[in-house]
Amino acid sequence: MSLGQFVSHDTALKKLWQHLPQARLVGGCVRDLLLNLPVHDVDLATPQSPEVVMQILEAAGFKVYATGLRHGTVTSVIDGRAFEITTLRRDVTTDGRHAVVAWTDDWREDAARRDFTINAMSCDRAGQVHDYFNGQADLAARQLRFVGDAETRIREDALRILRFFRFLARFDVAKPDQAALTAIRDLHALIARLSGERIAAEIMRIVVLDRAPLVLSLMQEVGVLPHIVSHPNLRFFSHLLSLGAPAEPRLRLAALYPPREEVKRLRLSREDTDLIDFLTATQPLLDPAADDAALRRALSEAPPDRLTLRSWMDQAADRSGTSSESWQKFRTRLNAMETPTFPLQGRDLLDQGMSPGRSLGTVLKATEDWWRARGCVDGLSACLSYALTLRGFSRNSSPT
Ligand code: ATP
Ligand code: MG
Repeated sequence: MSLGQFVSHDTALKKLWQHLPQARLVGGCVRDLLLNLPVHDVDLATPQSPEVVMQILEAAGFKVYATGLRHGTVTSVIDGRAFEITTLRRDVTTDGRHAVVAWTDDWREDAARRDFTINAMSCDRAGQVHDYFNGQADLAARQLRFVGDAETRIREDALRILRFFRFLARFDVAKPDQAALTAIRDLHALIARLSGERIAAEIMRIVVLDRAPLVLSLMQEVGVLPHIVSHPNLRFFSHLLSLGAPAEPRLRLAALYPPREEVKRLRLSREDTDLIDFLTATQPLLDPAADDAALRRALSEAPPDRLTLRSWMDQAADRSGTSSESWQKFRTRLNAMETPTFPLQGRDLLDQGMSPGRSLGTVLKATEDWWRARGCVDGLSACLSYALTLRGFSRNSSPT
């Protein structure tokens, strides 16, 4: 949708503008609408203070949440959609990541603290674009430039280094800005001061983009990537993408083969860390020629979505000459197969008079190994009979 269409047709936005006529669309949504791309978040800015914004919107009957009052942001939900409205700001002090801000009524000042010229435009309710730093021309020429001096802007906030590469990959920048690259070459060490969470959020958004291989190589060349993954396997990463692997951020990150300590530094969730561990485990796990029993065995140990992701890693590492079609067929089989569940539970053994404790656990485990080795097809009674044949484990004298 074009910017003009959006401004004149979006009914929720028009309701908002009835009450906050001075507010303007800002940042990413203006950029994306100028490119006729779909917008996800609609951000607005306004010269009124957050308290006044809240008052006005509440009086108009809209739901309003103080989502970031300290930064001047309130969120209003209109027709089920969230709009972030932030008071115009200027930086008072910066410390390499966070700024102390003051409210202002100067639109240019607010634009000047934004990172890139293409992100610094605003659009008013009449559809007029306010472009203080040549953002439209840069967008048309696919140029990504810092607002102001690159070095100064990076020293204010080192996250901008990673944002630079993210937008570079996203907008197919023809020739990366030399001033920006020079500043990044000098200042890449500032990345070490960013929190793991922020680094993770950015790198996960970079690796899923189609142009990630090129941009990651550039990040490596200028010294940025080694702060995140010390010895990234860029060849493997590119090869994985060339096979058509899905844009799954954890799969893409795993394909760089980050060592465990480096994954830990990113402070991902336990689930994400486990998945990356599973994907980067050295042992080759999957064989597309596996028979059904082997597939069931694999499925009894890991869910199909995990195995599917792992299959992309194994395919990329495969030197046997197995065709892509075979790997694809293998994934189809994997996802069509029912996940087997080991039928025997501790309770079944207790019912047979076995006493609770370690030996019960050992019998269960041994029976599960037997069940798996036989292809995960035996039912409860077969498993129970096998469990009871295991000698040397303590058994209650008799059930009471
Ligand atoms: P996306 O579509 O990825 O959300 P975006 O441009 O909307 O892209 P956000 O992170 O949502 O990016 O930020 C919204 C706007 O806030 C940006 O367009 C930019 O103007 C400004 N901004 C965000 N982060 C920074 C930063 N670290 N330094 C300066 N300006 C920033
Ligand atoms: Mg955004």
